[in-house]
Amino acid sequence: MKEIIRQIQAAVEIDPERSRIRLAGHEVAYHCEKFSTRIIRGLEDVLGVEEANALIQQAASESLYQPLTELSQAETNWANLTRSERLALIFEVFKILGYGAVTIAEANGNRTKVTSSNSYLAEGFFENAEQWRWSKRSAPFCHDMCGYLRAAFAVSDGVPLDRVTVKETTCRTMGAELCTFEVEVAQ
Ligand SMILES: [Zn+2]
Repeated sequence: MKEIIRQIQAAVEIDPERSRIRLAGHEVAYHCEKFSTRIIRGLEDVLGVEEANALIQQAASESLYQPLTELSQAETNWANLTRSERLALIFEVFKILGYGAVTIAEANGNRTKVTSSNSYLAEGFFENAEQWRWSKRSAPFCHDMCGYLRAAFAVSDGVPLDRVTVKETTCRTMGAELCTFEVEVAQ
């Protein structure tokens, strides 16, 4: 496991001048969370929360799916890893990329509950909230994390992205202690 994490770290390039991060040659993140948060609030204003979630989730899942697939192909031992070992590795990549830490809280067949105490957009929300006097939200905010988790489960289970659905059910920006994501992989 440690060796794989070293390989992953070696595959990450950070370009601070352009505020970009690349994983295995693919750009996977832009801007700082504070800035992204304001862009996403703007998108929500125009599209509504649900459509903004769908759009951001799709873009985030697609941008991460290919680099994660390549990393899994580069790991010769991948086929012998259990699902939770694969996910643990992918979640290490999340930390390296600055998406925040995520934990599997419950796994029940094709349904998994994932929690995060510091997801990227929630952190960005709190950084802005004081300055712009934003009040607590009535809908979840971590649209990008929904997409990253979709890519994570698609790659860990070896299925296409459209077989995975992710819904955030509690969010720190709504006053919850943790962000909770319900993941379902269609059989
Ligand atoms: Zn959240």
